[in-house]
Amino acid sequence: MSQTYPIFESCLIGGEWVGAGAGSVIPVRNPWDGRQIGTVPDAGRAETRAAIAAADAALGPWKAMTAAERSQLMLRLADLMLAEKESLGRLLTLEQGKPLSEAVGEVAFGAAYVRWFAEEAKRVYGDIIPSPWRGRRILVTREPVGVVGAITPWNFPNSMIARKLGAALAAGCTMVIKPASQTPFSALAVGDLALKAGLPAGVVNIVTGKAAEIAAEMCENPRLRKISFTGSTEVGRRLAAQASAHLKRTSMELGGNAPFVVFDDADIEAAVNGAMVSKFRNSGQTCVCTNRFLVQSGIHDAFVARFSKAIGELKLGNGLEPGVAQGPLIDESAVLKVEAHVADALGKGAILVRGGRRSSLGGSLYEPTLVTGANSQMLVAGDETFGPLAAVFRFETEAEAIALANATEYGLAAYLYTRDLARAFRVSEALEYGLVGVNEGLITTEAAPFGGYKDSGFGKEGSKYGVEDYVNMKYTCLGGLG
Ligand code: NAP
Repeated sequence: MSQTYPIFESCLIGGEWVGAGAGSVIPVRNPWDGRQIGTVPDAGRAETRAAIAAADAALGPWKAMTAAERSQLMLRLADLMLAEKESLGRLLTLEQGKPLSEAVGEVAFGAAYVRWFAEEAKRVYGDIIPSPWRGRRILVTREPVGVVGAITPWNFPNSMIARKLGAALAAGCTMVIKPASQTPFSALAVGDLALKAGLPAGVVNIVTGKAAEIAAEMCENPRLRKISFTGSTEVGRRLAAQASAHLKRTSMELGGNAPFVVFDDADIEAAVNGAMVSKFRNSGQTCVCTNRFLVQSGIHDAFVARFSKAIGELKLGNGLEPGVAQGPLIDESAVLKVEAHVADALGKGAILVRGGRRSSLGGSLYEPTLVTGANSQMLVAGDETFGPLAAVFRFETEAEAIALANATEYGLAAYLYTRDLARAFRVSEALEYGLVGVNEGLITTEAAPFGGYKDSGFGKEGSKYGVEDYVNMKYTCLGGLG
């Protein structure tokens, strides 16, 4: 059995591990059994200010390096992450609960982001624009925005950080990262690997602790120029307002309420496979998880029967046990939210096909649940469940499906299944979403732009576009050229 990556119970500031000292700490618990696996400093303003100062001091030398030099260090970091993917995966499962295979996969995905952006670092191109004046030239260059603050959620403790870190470092920025309080150890492990890879002290800083205080310092400190946030729409909305008061650039990767549309002409086997991965990965706790299954009348019963059978084969348990496909939810409040959505749906006429209760294994495990007869009056129609509830809505026409799919404030991910090429184009173009999977239920990759429409936020992560959020565009006019 592989080792668990060492636990760092300190903040990382200017290349030094800074413990809580006499200050308070936050306990970090294993969601499987509630046992404490360690603590991290409950840091606030002062530590964040110190981290921003360290990132600011590191900024000049870091951006002065050639892109190829930065790229080399980032490739080393990606290699180290991959070499440690098993031990990092175990650490991730311990603090987050997801099955080990998913955790190891997430670390590999995080490394893929760092590798992708290590390559992109060499392609942060400028332009020379034909000049309207004789004797002058117009140059456009891209420069790092400066020190970046990143605030990340618990559902992907490694990859949500890696895709911000990759883009920021490639652009020549330095960082202060505030990981979710429930899953700080995966972030601190990446900080340790960044030092081992040879990234200069202060390029990557990590502060754990009081979210509101850390965010306030990030917003108000003039040396920090950009905030990249991934988390709930509720917090993102507040943070965007706070940051805009200080004219900080922001990127907001927020919540979703993904529709999964199955038309009568769909390949039913493919649709069920896609439904399983898009709904039950990470026990339903991903921002791109399906929240609403919209199924056309003609295929409805057959789809529900096969989907129910596949759900019945999911093994629940401790994420570290072989074969477990569903781990615990992150905490009790996550279970309460799923319970509320299930009770609300059943109270408003939905029919329970499978699950519908806490698992007999105890803790925060909730049985994968399937209901039919869902309608737009139910909580699940408008709110993000963020748990293992699959709610099936029945529809008759394509126009009805599009209207239903778009009837939400969110616009992150949507999926549709059809064998009709014209319909695939028609419907995907009508969907008000930043990501659309046609006959695919899992579409995230470092090579494609990730980001939402509407209240799911703004900005793109990954792909050749991901660096754009971390650069300023400069116009230089060269005159006196004859
Ligand atoms: P959350 O409650 O919004 O927390 C996210 C981060 O924000 C955590 O680090 C949290 O710190 C911090 N935070 C809390 N209050 C804050 C405040 N007042 N100011 C600034 N930061 C604050 O979200 P979550 O429950 O961890 O994550 C789940 C949500 O993230 C879901 O809505 C999901 O859809 C979304 N998500 C979106 C994407 C995407 O790319 N669009 C990806 C993954 C997840 P503490 O942990 O210390 O409270």
